[in-house]
Amino acid sequence: NATPNDLRAFWMPFTANRQFKQDPRMLVGARDMHFTAADGRKILDGTAGLWCVNAGHCRPKITEAIAAQAGELDYAPAFQMGHPKAFELANRLVDLVGNKMAHVLFTNSGSESVETALKVAIAYHRAKGNGSRFRLIGRERGYHGVNFGGISVGGIVSNRKMFGTLLTGVDHMPHTHLPDRNAFSKGEPEHGGDLADELQRIVTLHDASTIAAVIVEPVAGSTGVLIPPKGYLQRLRDICTQHGILLIFDEVITGYGRMGAPFASNYYGIQPDIMVTAKGLTNGVIPMGAVFVTAEIHDAFMTGPEHLIEFMHGYTYSGNPIASAAALATLDTYKEEGLFERAADLAPYWQEALHSLKGEPHVIDVRNIGLIGAVELSPISGEPTKRAFSCFVRAWEKGFLIRTTGDIIAMSPPLIISKGQIDELIDGVRGVLREVQ
Ligand code: PMP
Repeated sequence: NATPNDLRAFWMPFTANRQFKQDPRMLVGARDMHFTAADGRKILDGTAGLWCVNAGHCRPKITEAIAAQAGELDYAPAFQMGHPKAFELANRLVDLVGNKMAHVLFTNSGSESVETALKVAIAYHRAKGNGSRFRLIGRERGYHGVNFGGISVGGIVSNRKMFGTLLTGVDHMPHTHLPDRNAFSKGEPEHGGDLADELQRIVTLHDASTIAAVIVEPVAGSTGVLIPPKGYLQRLRDICTQHGILLIFDEVITGYGRMGAPFASNYYGIQPDIMVTAKGLTNGVIPMGAVFVTAEIHDAFMTGPEHLIEFMHGYTYSGNPIASAAALATLDTYKEEGLFERAADLAPYWQEALHSLKGEPHVIDVRNIGLIGAVELSPISGEPTKRAFSCFVRAWEKGFLIRTTGDIIAMSPPLIISKGQIDELIDGVRGVLREVQ
């Protein structure tokens, strides 16, 4: 395993935690549902890496596509030239989502996709002659990456408090899910529409004609798997439509089959104006993000008076050939193996297994949707997050990977997980819960 000296130069991200730096958890290999740790142990991946390795690890089809592309056309200057795989990928993606998402901009991460979406939203209104629409509305406990726009609209105060005012004109909807969290564990409360009226309140407060866009994760992932009550997202959609506000879905976690549907917008049958994706697009293997927009938004730039000159956006690596090849092979894998349908078929089994943890020590709530699950633990007084983190450490020692966020254990296994492996994972969590203080 690595010694502290091996890590002397490495700073962020994981070494920000000093304890990690003393005892780094090193991974040296991976295959399908498992990582291999430096000491040779197999670690069952209960989180698909960071919610991204949806087809499982080191899938030959994907790694071979990457190798072949790297040997054929490694790079194409993104601003002057195209290459066939990026165009093919864009077409495949809009076909996959199958709703009004008609065009795709490529980025390299979820955070860049968020920044792209926020810029597109404001620029769209300007292109339509509505320059006064500059406000952006996020949500408490929303997570939208770590760049300046993302932390501004994001609802995690600790991520932004060092950085002053950040983007101006940003407001946040209160987190409407939390008081009712127990209710969504299995049932579907009907009051989502009322909760979304918080948006109406903000719209009234600021004057709708100043608001460019609302951004939400359809299911908030990184802040603890917060599943919207029935009617909530539809009501957001209705309020946005009524006031000419764009609705942005951040589907970085919910996209590419995690919900048992291509995207959460398909799952809920709700049409966003802009959709932000990354992670599962390339099976998490190569950095890539994709931002989807409607034809209406695209056309405002491509035919309007301020066409392109006023709004130019892209990255050195946008749609690069190797990432495009990885994404195409990933989409092939999802399709050939029916992984989105598989996730939908497994979801009831996953739900039963997760809910068997109710009544275990410290458990105060269990939530699930698609192949996402969360177990919320009672906090230790004065030491919030400690109990869940102890579970994570113990799970690693016992050979399986979970993720913790606050006092919540989150799980999001690769969609290739078997029922036996679901049992193994959930029984592993059960064992850990019974051990920790
Ligand atoms: N949005 C959401 C909803 C996310 O979950 C994440 C990452 N967990 C991001 C944006 C940022 O993605 P990245 O880390 O690829 O920048």
